[in-house]
Amino acid sequence: MTPQEELRHRWGYDSFKPLQREAIEVALAGRDCLVVLPTGGGKSICYQLPAALGRGLVLVVSPLIALMDDQVAAAREAGLAADALHSNLEAGHRSEAYRRLAAGKTDLLYVSPERLLVGDLLEDVAGRLILIAVDEAHCVSHWGHEFRPEYRRLAEVLERFPKAARMALTATATPAVQEDVCAQLALRAPSRFIGHPDRPNLVYRAFPRRDQSAQVLEVVRRHPGEAGIVYAQTRKDVERLAAKLEGEGISCAAYHAGLPAERRRRAQDDFVNERLDVVVATIAFGMGIDLYNVRYVIHANTPRSVEHYQQESGRAGRDGGPADCVLLFAASDLALHRALALKDGALAPERQCVLERQLREIGRYAVAPVCRHRLLTEHFGAPYPPEGASRSGEGCAVGCAACDVCLGETKRLSDEDALLMARKVLSGAWRAGGRFGTGYVVNMLLGRGDERMTRNGHDSLQVFGLLEESGEAAVRSWIDQLIVQDFLEVVEEREYPLLRITEAGKALCRDAGTVRLGVPVPPAARGRKKSKALRKSPVSDLSPDEELFERLRRLRRLISGKLGVPPYVVFHDSALVEMAALKPRTLDAFGGVKGVGERKLERYGAAFLKVIAGESPDAVW
Ligand code: ADP
Repeated sequence: MTPQEELRHRWGYDSFKPLQREAIEVALAGRDCLVVLPTGGGKSICYQLPAALGRGLVLVVSPLIALMDDQVAAAREAGLAADALHSNLEAGHRSEAYRRLAAGKTDLLYVSPERLLVGDLLEDVAGRLILIAVDEAHCVSHWGHEFRPEYRRLAEVLERFPKAARMALTATATPAVQEDVCAQLALRAPSRFIGHPDRPNLVYRAFPRRDQSAQVLEVVRRHPGEAGIVYAQTRKDVERLAAKLEGEGISCAAYHAGLPAERRRRAQDDFVNERLDVVVATIAFGMGIDLYNVRYVIHANTPRSVEHYQQESGRAGRDGGPADCVLLFAASDLALHRALALKDGALAPERQCVLERQLREIGRYAVAPVCRHRLLTEHFGAPYPPEGASRSGEGCAVGCAACDVCLGETKRLSDEDALLMARKVLSGAWRAGGRFGTGYVVNMLLGRGDERMTRNGHDSLQVFGLLEESGEAAVRSWIDQLIVQDFLEVVEEREYPLLRITEAGKALCRDAGTVRLGVPVPPAARGRKKSKALRKSPVSDLSPDEELFERLRRLRRLISGKLGVPPYVVFHDSALVEMAALKPRTLDAFGGVKGVGERKLERYGAAFLKVIAGESPDAVW
């Protein structure tokens, strides 16, 4: 079979996604390649398809042990002879996997880097190995965001298989990380397949944080009954937010490294098996999660870097359907990240530099009143809009139609207005002399005097009440925006964070200069722009029968429960949506639904057809 026929036969897809075919062809020709495709870009098929052709063994190195069993289950559902070897495997399963491997029956083998480095596998695989795929390859790079020391040693193992092709895969890699990956894994004259990093189905929003729980709740309420993840910075934040959501009747669980392993496992399990809508978590959650229909990811605190943000928010909408990504920003989060990073002593100068750069970049992303799709894309070294597309991008009237700026929810002030407002804020901080915290300066600018201010003589200054009309939310947000642009800084003095104007800030007050400021537009004042991502959703394009969709979901849950695999392993949401819209009546027609391969047709076709014909899911399975 050709790769194209195999794609149709095993996975039920008619065409390749961008760069899949190219990566597969290079691997089959025995050459090395680097594949950078955004989450949901279809990386797994790049190495699973060569395994499906039956020409030899494909080894997949992945750090995500928790995911391996589900990945194996999904590959087996497509009819592949797949196995995994990792430390969590039951003894019985392990010996069976070894037996199949030694007998040359395995086509696809997942291993953790630790497992591979032990070295005892090498003889079993040597003869048949055609391809070694290194997934999450950014973990090899110091410059990346999830550096794993074991990954650095992989090249030693790869060298022992000079004949096998190498494929490094990752979703997020700046050009520097791409270079590092190729070098560290000793890829030999690799072809580079770099997909465009933009995720057009995600709507990005970044707002100043005012009332964390209320802002989180508002987003959660927009998605009743849908899967969502809320990330918070500390364990305390996680527990507080989870309690708040639970108190509001939302089906949710907390997840952080301080909880007992059993509770964490249950939260994860319930989420993946759709028994739970929301997980509130620290970033400890998500690496081990394969859930395709997450409809929103909220960052209740600012993430540590743009790379982290791309990775974490990227867990939304892997099925290609529309999803919301909301970031609530406060400059104090950045200070906390810095403090946590330095908790155990000073960092090496090189790491310190990387940390400062990363904090600056994520701060800029969160406050710049510029199209967020553009900012993210450009961060990863790609042009926006993607070449050949006709979007305009910069905070203009049309833009991406999928971020707060282009949807008119955040307004960019004109250059003159921004300079004027910035100077007002800066002069407040300047006159306060760097001896007071943010709250004090805000009160001064808003004209809210108290005894202390009178004592300091600050209520008789010209700056007192200078920004009264702008309101507290805008003034606080401008202060954060000016910190991120280095016109203000927060310095700790005897444990008190004090707000100070920087030399650049003074220069902006004296001479002309450029500064960018935005303000959130209150809902009542917004125009009626509709998100492009939502309009493009597979749901609205196909207009499925909602009631049937719910019954198909129920059947999927019954099947997955019986098989002990997550629902998406049976069918992705996109396949159910198509079934509920097209309502196929025959096995032939059912086989035409995207995502229905031969094996799934055989195993599940009859049951799904009965439900489509009106039978109850509980009666057919
Ligand atoms: P990644 O690992 O890059 O995040 P996956 O391999 O998990 O992406 O694939 C994302 C989704 O795209 C899955 O639902 C998968 O079944 C689907 N998919 C992969 N290749 C194709 C294709 N050629 N056509 C349609 N859907 C595809």
